[in-house]
Amino acid sequence: YGVYDQKHPDDQFEPDPTKKNLVILGTGWGAVSLLKKLDTENYNVIVISPRNYFLFTPLLPSCTTGTVEHRSIMEPIRSILRHKKAAVKYYEAEATKIDPERKVIAIDDNSDIKGASNKTEVSYDMLVVSVGAENATFGIPGVKEHSCFLKEIGDAQQIRKKIMDCVETATFKDQSPEEVARLLHMVVVGGGPTGVEFAGELQDFFDEDIKKWVPEISDKFKVTLIEALPNVLPMFSKQLIDYTEATFKEEKITIMTKTAVKKVTDKTVEAEATGPDGKKTIQIMPYGLLVWATGNAVRPIVRDLMSQIPAQKDSRRGLAVNEYLVVQGTKDIWATGDCAVAGYAPTAQVASQEGAFLARLFNTMAKSEAIEHQIHDLSSSLNLQPGNTADIAKEIEAHEKQLRRIKDIKPFHYTHQGSLAYIGSERAVADVSWLNGNFATGGGLTYLFWRSAYLSMCFSTRNRVLVVLDWLKSKAFGRDVSRE
Ligand code: FAD
Ligand code: NAD
Repeated sequence: YGVYDQKHPDDQFEPDPTKKNLVILGTGWGAVSLLKKLDTENYNVIVISPRNYFLFTPLLPSCTTGTVEHRSIMEPIRSILRHKKAAVKYYEAEATKIDPERKVIAIDDNSDIKGASNKTEVSYDMLVVSVGAENATFGIPGVKEHSCFLKEIGDAQQIRKKIMDCVETATFKDQSPEEVARLLHMVVVGGGPTGVEFAGELQDFFDEDIKKWVPEISDKFKVTLIEALPNVLPMFSKQLIDYTEATFKEEKITIMTKTAVKKVTDKTVEAEATGPDGKKTIQIMPYGLLVWATGNAVRPIVRDLMSQIPAQKDSRRGLAVNEYLVVQGTKDIWATGDCAVAGYAPTAQVASQEGAFLARLFNTMAKSEAIEHQIHDLSSSLNLQPGNTADIAKEIEAHEKQLRRIKDIKPFHYTHQGSLAYIGSERAVADVSWLNGNFATGGGLTYLFWRSAYLSMCFSTRNRVLVVLDWLKSKAFGRDVSRE
């Protein structure tokens, strides 16, 4: 998108009573990829989300240490919508309830500044639920109160602040050695890609910057990654799992596998470790920073919608959808991304392909409806213009042919491009599908591939430029260790 192109000021959102209200919940991967490809002039499009920007999550772990600044991976939804042909309405609000009977959504402005009107209802003819997921805690005591998550920009900012707070507090006058060890022990729970990437970034921050600025703690900083399963990164091949574990060993990150966290307090993590003989032992680890990355849980609004639809009663992990992403048991609700259960992993790749599919589907539906209207009008005129019958019949036939072609929409099909993860010390792992085959690779070259792949996937040129500048800045001057 160019910097200077402005939308015409007359281009205001005016709901057209002849068009359907298409409401989209969310401004994440699924929703934005739908919006990007949707012909907005076919519908009255309304977007509702408490977050007025799109977040490029793959680079979120880099924001926790300042390798990338948070605004570089945010794209304002206003800027995305401004470039659409027909105006789109955006409400900064959380959808709190979907009523599929009355076809309305209750929305609530839960931001700090509230106007006299802050709770209302929006009605829909077509609804796309793309609200993502929340953090899974499995009801483990103390997790919500004491740990940081890593899903949103605010989480990354909180982690960045806490890392430096731990470091500064550890160097406070007369701090005991036990307290220094506790404060500088950074524990990451969950060995999926979020936990692994964060642990790698954290160790980089320490090795490349903190060590230099605060040399007195250079042998006391420690990162531990705890994973309940026998290995980290279960979605990668065995070779890349081994490579990641070996790299972590070199980086001095401790990996504790077959260890499940059972309880968290403000200063300790209690975990149950299973030894090679199957014997279970309880370990209590003092920590300064705890980052909880154990995957996804269903959002309350999605759970509530599921409870209203009998066909969803056996679905546990989100809204079960059919091959056209229609929520099972409904006719006019679609779901994409992490809140939808379509048989794929909850990834940005899946969400964005689903969003793009829905855009094609809705564009086609609008086109076929328009042709159906034309056929209807032509059929009516057959009676009014008896002299022209042959021509009109020919035109109808042509339209019907076009309609059959358009209506032949194939179901959603996901194309897996591969999995990529950064593992620290300028190394990455990649399981990539290429030329109908698969190849698994890890190391420095893969890291360059990781960087260029993520750069090309950034939302806008502005994002790309900012991310490159951040990478250059942190390389040249070191990461900024000031605590905001
Ligand atoms: P999201 O992108 O989470 O968007 C949900 C949207 O809904 C948000 O705008 C939110 O504000 C809004 N919302 C929430 N509640 C409501 C409500 N009640 N009403 C209205 N709106 C609401 N995947 C990859 O494929 N590759 C990666 O490298 C990768 N890296 C990741 C790194 C991290 C740190 C994380 C956390 C995830 C990563 N993922 C990656 C996974 C990927 O981010 C998700 O699968 C993806 O964001 C899902 O898209 P979504 O649209 O379903 O949800
Ligand atoms: P995840 O679900 O992939 O991994 C969570 C891990 O936490 C699991 O391995 C689980 O065994 C472990 N765990 C659960 N409870 C535990 C406990 N009590 N103690 C110790 N370990 C426990 O979660 P994620 O890493 O947040 O990823 C979520 C989704 O986002 C996934 O689909 C992932 O593929 C995607 N993602 C992809 C990338 C990437 O491609 N680079 C990066 C981040 C996230």
